[in-house]
Amino acid sequence: MAYDFDLYVIGAGSGGVRAARFAAGFGAKVAVAESRYLGGTCVNVGCVPKKLLVYGAHFAEDFEQASGFGWNLGEANFDWATLIANKDREINRLNGIYRNLLVNSGVTLHEAHAKIVGPHEVEVNGERYTAKNILIATGGWPQIPEIPGHEHAIGSNEAFFLKELPKRVLVVGGGYIAVEFAGIFHGLGANTTLLYRGDLFLRGFDGSVRKHLQEELTKRGLDMQFNADIARIDKEADGSLKATLKDGRVLEADCVFYATGRRPMLDNLGLENTDVQLDDKGFIKVNDEYQTTEPSILALGDVIGRVQLTPVALAEGMAVARRLFKPEQYRPVDYKMIPTAVFSLPNIGTVGLSEEEARDCGHEVVIFESRFRPMKLTLTDCQEKTLMKLVVDAKTDKVLGCHMVGPDAGEIVQGLAIALKAGATKRDFDDTIGVHPTAAEEFVTMRTPVSA
Ligand code: FAD
Ligand code: NDP
Repeated sequence: MAYDFDLYVIGAGSGGVRAARFAAGFGAKVAVAESRYLGGTCVNVGCVPKKLLVYGAHFAEDFEQASGFGWNLGEANFDWATLIANKDREINRLNGIYRNLLVNSGVTLHEAHAKIVGPHEVEVNGERYTAKNILIATGGWPQIPEIPGHEHAIGSNEAFFLKELPKRVLVVGGGYIAVEFAGIFHGLGANTTLLYRGDLFLRGFDGSVRKHLQEELTKRGLDMQFNADIARIDKEADGSLKATLKDGRVLEADCVFYATGRRPMLDNLGLENTDVQLDDKGFIKVNDEYQTTEPSILALGDVIGRVQLTPVALAEGMAVARRLFKPEQYRPVDYKMIPTAVFSLPNIGTVGLSEEEARDCGHEVVIFESRFRPMKLTLTDCQEKTLMKLVVDAKTDKVLGCHMVGPDAGEIVQGLAIALKAGATKRDFDDTIGVHPTAAEEFVTMRTPVSA
């Protein structure tokens, strides 16, 4: 049967754009539908605007530390509206770049919602299009628990477009987004409280990293309340919010921001017209080659709920394009040793196994840890410490994990990820000459284990 397209991609986010562009480059006839914004979550309400706000918040400490280096700046003033307007302008520019990337690679772009009406058919703007394969790359959406008054809370989508910087913010959650936004609001001068339902935030990260970040954030004056959760939110006559915690305490705020995970975006997608099945967490179930239980339909990125990171969605998009249209170049995505950063202030950078994971997997481990005050701070009053940690297999000497909390941790860990991917041993780290004077050189100069 002749189809209108070889591949119809739903969603022009990180994964969808990558798959569409490369499929078209391999000679396929490709269309993409995008209902909201080109570039998806990462470009519009995720990685990019988040990082711009983190940069904005970082200036607070730069100004504070500048006097130690002889700079006298006077009183610093921050204007939220300027930051948001400049951020919006940059995102608009990126939207245009994504449009050009798609159109210039020969992809047909439908800027509208797409609904699947059959295993090979999609409806967009009242028109129907057939395709040999359909790729679902519809991403995710913030999930806010339905407690009484949840309608008064915001999620990350709204946080990027607040008209004013709230004076008092409650950030709920203990994952990436909560920790990053607590740092943004606190750094920009809002009175910020982070509320997390468990004992310590960032579950799944290395224990030393979680503890160290908690200590550093405490030094910075961020209010963190663990084992704390909101039972209800009430709006007062003056517009302020009253959050009643499960333990009965009441906290007042101007903004309650939930960062409690993301659900797959399946709204009005038409899955009922297909045999696509969901997994037990509600994400789209796929096999190792991103094929759903409806053979002509594939899915990737956040909507399959494996690893919700942009570079992973990009790698999956590339794998799908190659498997369908350039099979001789196909390589499965390797989910091991994925480096990641939390852009908290200070940053976390991490790759490989945490100490806890390594022990749980049965490794006998040797741990190297270093805590030091970075050179840049020696002329300032700031007492912040950087943490670096290596988790090494005692039998093979292989470095199983590298973890850092400190300035530029995300930048530093990218290079370490290549070493770990190549199977580097602690001996290789020891034999590597440092770059002096840097913080990063500490990763190749740690000699004495802290525990065995
Ligand atoms: P998305 O990028 O979400 O794209 C899906 C697209 O599909 C959207 O544009 C949507 O409008 C569209 N769509 C949905 N349904 C339809 C439909 N029926 N018809 C047409 N179009 C549709 N990751 C990192 O690696 N680093 C970070 O620093 C980072 N920071 C983040 C910060 C925040 C606040 C958030 C929320 C996420 C962050 N992420 C980060 C995660 C990253 O953004 C996602 O993992 C990534 O965007 C997933 O890509 P995707 O292609 O699966 O989906
Ligand atoms: P996460 O899954 O990272 O964290 C969710 C947090 O909310 C956890 O601390 C969880 O607690 C808590 N939580 C979940 N449900 C509830 C509830 N009902 N009540 C109270 N607390 C709850 O999700 P995020 O929303 O922070 O981010 C989504 C994903 O986006 C991340 O996992 C990451 O993959 C990606 N991302 C990546 C970034 C980066 O690379 N820098 C930045 C931002 C997002 P518990 O631990 O107890 O389950």
